[in-house]
Amino acid sequence: TAGIVVAGAGQAGFQLAASLREGGFKDPITLVGDETALPYQRPPLSKAYLAGKTEREGLFLRQPGFFAEHTITHRPGIRATAIDRAARRLHLSDGDSLAYDHLVLATGARNRPLPVPGADLGGAHQLRGLADADALRAEIAAARSIVVVGAGFIGLEFAAVAASRGLPVTVIEAADRPMARAVSPEMGRFFRQAHEALSVRFAFGAGVTAITGRDGRAAGVTLADGSDLPADLVLVGIGVLPNRELALEAGLPAEDGVRVDTFLATPDPAVSAIGDCARFPSPFATGLTADGTVRIESVQNAIDQGRCVAARLLGKPAAYGALPWFWSDQGPHKLQIAGLSGPGDASVVRGSGPAFSVFRFRDGRLSAVESVDRAADHMIARRLLAAGTALTPDQAEDPNFDLKALAM
Ligand code: FAD
Repeated sequence: TAGIVVAGAGQAGFQLAASLREGGFKDPITLVGDETALPYQRPPLSKAYLAGKTEREGLFLRQPGFFAEHTITHRPGIRATAIDRAARRLHLSDGDSLAYDHLVLATGARNRPLPVPGADLGGAHQLRGLADADALRAEIAAARSIVVVGAGFIGLEFAAVAASRGLPVTVIEAADRPMARAVSPEMGRFFRQAHEALSVRFAFGAGVTAITGRDGRAAGVTLADGSDLPADLVLVGIGVLPNRELALEAGLPAEDGVRVDTFLATPDPAVSAIGDCARFPSPFATGLTADGTVRIESVQNAIDQGRCVAARLLGKPAAYGALPWFWSDQGPHKLQIAGLSGPGDASVVRGSGPAFSVFRFRDGRLSAVESVDRAADHMIARRLLAAGTALTPDQAEDPNFDLKALAM
């Protein structure tokens, strides 16, 4: 038999392959990935690895021997170029093609390009893969002034690492606060102050119109109001685009992500999609998006979706309903998020001072909990949200209300 072919050897694709073998799957498994490294984790790229506190070996999801031991064929440095659904074959950039019984798209996402002149100058970077992180690590040592475009997770994590090395950092953000799409105004305000305490400067409501250069390298950025900031290192972190082209060109629906059902299957029963590239219906998206589907960029989602499809291919299908959760390390602070919230959700703050949680409510129901340096709240929140336990805003806010007992 042809077995299972996975396009994309990242967090989700790797997990699928590992879970299949763990579950006793005997047929061939081939992981095709366009990066040259062994499958690795991305979170440290903007945290410990960038800061020089973790080395390359610490990033790999498994050591090289794992793949041979588990008879998983990893084909690094190779791009999947087209799906022939009628023949059930995946075409590859080296001219080869692979037959499949089932194809899993785990192609992840790529950074959204900054559409301004100068975005391709030396010293202007993005951060998605190991190669990007290596380039940044090499240049950050010699940088004298840094501009970060976008106050999202990656931009802020990078800013914190750079600022803690004593470098002047300015973050340019179109919205009026950090992480505006992802967290509450209360949490955004806290992180703004936390970054300012590290000497990071912000320009909110601001846009970049050009990266200016000297001798082919970035020297500054020009803002929409005409002002110029010096910058010999620019990091652009303005969100990602799902890698959906393989699906689209094969005639599969892929509007803002490869469309899958609750089992993470595309309309072609021989093709599934998982991780950052997949758009799926989620019980946690009720009232959040018009059609109740989401695309989630997180390690949790990549791992749990890899496991979910592996279970189905092992003959134990179950709808995907895992609780979304996420973390981000910025300077000395750890932000943890459970659930999915939108800008319209109400907020209630629990705790005061530097460690607190924001409980978000949508249509009167708990939708998400954002915790800063309150790991216990986060764990409790995960239980409450996963179980759908009722909680009122008054209870969440009341420090004497025993949340832990409610979660038991
Ligand atoms: P990926 O891990 O991106 O893997 C997809 C792979 O497919 C890539 O190697 C890609 O090159 C390859 N590929 C694409 N197209 C093709 C093709 N046609 N043929 C072959 N290969 C292809 N999440 C958290 O939860 N917490 C964090 O703190 C956090 N920090 C992050 C920091 C950084 C810098 C980044 C970039 C991401 C971070 N994330 C974090 C997000 C998390 O890493 C992703 O959600 C996760 O990696 C998604 O897994 P994936 O397998 O879907 O995609």
